[in-house]
Amino acid sequence: MNVSRSNGRVIALCGGVGGAKLAYGLQYILGSDLTLIVNTGDDFEHLGLKISPDIDTVLYTLSGLANRELGWGRQDESWNFMETLAGLGGETWFRLGDRDLALHAERTRRLRTGETLSSITSSFAAHFGIAAQVLPMSDDPISTVVASSEGVLPFQRYFVERRCAPQVESIHFERAASARASSEVLSALGDPDLQAIIVCPSNPFLSIDPILSVPGIGSAIRAASVPMVAVSPIIGGKAVKGPTDKIMDELGVPRTSKAIAEHYGALIDGLVVDVSDADECEIAGCAVRLAASLMKTDDDRIRLAGETLEFARQLASSPQRAAQRQKL
Ligand code: GDP
Repeated sequence: MNVSRSNGRVIALCGGVGGAKLAYGLQYILGSDLTLIVNTGDDFEHLGLKISPDIDTVLYTLSGLANRELGWGRQDESWNFMETLAGLGGETWFRLGDRDLALHAERTRRLRTGETLSSITSSFAAHFGIAAQVLPMSDDPISTVVASSEGVLPFQRYFVERRCAPQVESIHFERAASARASSEVLSALGDPDLQAIIVCPSNPFLSIDPILSVPGIGSAIRAASVPMVAVSPIIGGKAVKGPTDKIMDELGVPRTSKAIAEHYGALIDGLVVDVSDADECEIAGCAVRLAASLMKTDDDRIRLAGETLEFARQLASSPQRAAQRQKL
């Protein structure tokens, strides 16, 4: 595969499964020049353990340990804990494999000693041999809640227990207003060598908006003044996986890549749109790059990451973009 190593730092905003696929390709190309800012709005406490589902998906995917058959969790998993818990009549709606469980137990122990989630995540990433810098969006707890046809649901109750069945009315990020971006996140966004910011094809409403809700992250992105490029999670009017398209319907947003560009608005300079949606190649105020954006194999991930980086590089030298940035 013909991919060139970059000079300078690239930041990617990332949720779980969909985002981690592109993050894998970005890491292949950029190695330690990649910083991932990962959603923690899905984090919750379960069975006394602190669980960070998107961070763990990123750690497992970037280290090649993700369970590709299940589409979540880690490979070579066993389920003794879950089976024993079920036998005891315990709560089993959120499945925790034995190996996965060890990660949550160790994270919980270290958080209780006062260590930050950023520090714990970075030591897990080092343990897994991950070259990229993996940063939680904040060390302060922020909880995504879904106002729905079944009332206000904590995120995992909506997503896992109710399998996204309730109709979404609005989405809120509890405690975001009083949260702070970590010093690691702010220093990555303020890095004078920063070349580009990529928004992975994660769910904009549930995975990227929580990151943007952290006070200081939006303004640091604007101040960075580097090209920001998103990859659309919508292909042919559908999400590849998960409830993005269903939520768009429920929020009255058209299921199109154009609507994704409009959702991010002036924050992004460009959107990568799937080749099958060539009719969406003109979006006012947003440059578009058509690419085969379905990532089935590792080669797909690396190729799409390469094309996305190349698009960002082109935008960096575009006079049109410079004029647009002046207006922000
Ligand atoms: P979650 O937190 O595990 O739900 O994962 P994310 O929010 O990171 O990603 C979910 C989104 O990824 C969905 O909207 C999918 O449409 C999108 N997605 C998953 N796989 C692909 C893919 O191969 N290509 C593109 N373009 N989007 C994808």
